[in-house]
Amino acid sequence: MMNITEFIKQKINSNELVLTEYESKELLKEIGIPIPPQKLTVSKEETLDAAEDIGYPLVLKLMAEDIVHKSDTGAVKLNLKSKEEVARAYDELMAIPSKVEKKISVQKMAKEPITELIIGMTTDQQFGPALMFGIGGILVELLEDVSFRIAPITEYDAREMIHEIKGFPILDGYRGKPKADIDAIVDVLLKISDLVVKNEEIHEMDLNPVFIYDKGLVCVDARIILKKRENNE
Ligand code: ADP
Ligand code: MG
Repeated sequence: MMNITEFIKQKINSNELVLTEYESKELLKEIGIPIPPQKLTVSKEETLDAAEDIGYPLVLKLMAEDIVHKSDTGAVKLNLKSKEEVARAYDELMAIPSKVEKKISVQKMAKEPITELIIGMTTDQQFGPALMFGIGGILVELLEDVSFRIAPITEYDAREMIHEIKGFPILDGYRGKPKADIDAIVDVLLKISDLVVKNEEIHEMDLNPVFIYDKGLVCVDARIILKKRENNE
């Protein structure tokens, strides 16, 4: 269990403004957003124990503050199916250069989604927290097919955000695929809206990707950035 307000306060006091994926997802779990079971480990023995506890297939990721885009540096090892594969992945992760202490996130491999989603929050200078929604991959990266709303949002706003993107048909049973669980997306948008309105110290959030299914969803990667402490307090 995590007291979110206390956790954020303590992070800001020690000037640790960029939460790791592990920390970010623990926070999301606390507000009821589904994440794959995860454990943080600091040795090979702990990693192998965590693997046995969580069960295969697994994902191992290197958690270090100086590694932001994990897959670009080889810090994500997907679909590990045995103790041997986990041991090898652990050695490979430990060989990646990093200036800070390395920890490993051992997490359950989520099953293939209908599509990947991106759900985010940025702080607008003028309007404050803004929520963002899009479908992952080239739709967001190349075509910038995203929708925005200033928080707090209503359920109606959340449904509009989802329906107004051009890629919406992908969520609505495109080419014989099942329809995505729109209610589950609405729920995440409302929970994030509520979180950022109650915790003004959150500067930015990036849930990328969220795996969406016909029933439910799971956030497999997240990053939360906090605001600097104001000196005049
Ligand atoms: P990056 O820091 O590069 O964004 P991610 O944690 O997003 O790293 O992992 C890269 C990709 O690996 C994700 O976009 C997703 O497709 C896949 N992935 C990551 N974690 C999991 C998981 N627990 N289960 C299934 N696939 C995953
Ligand atoms: Mg990611």
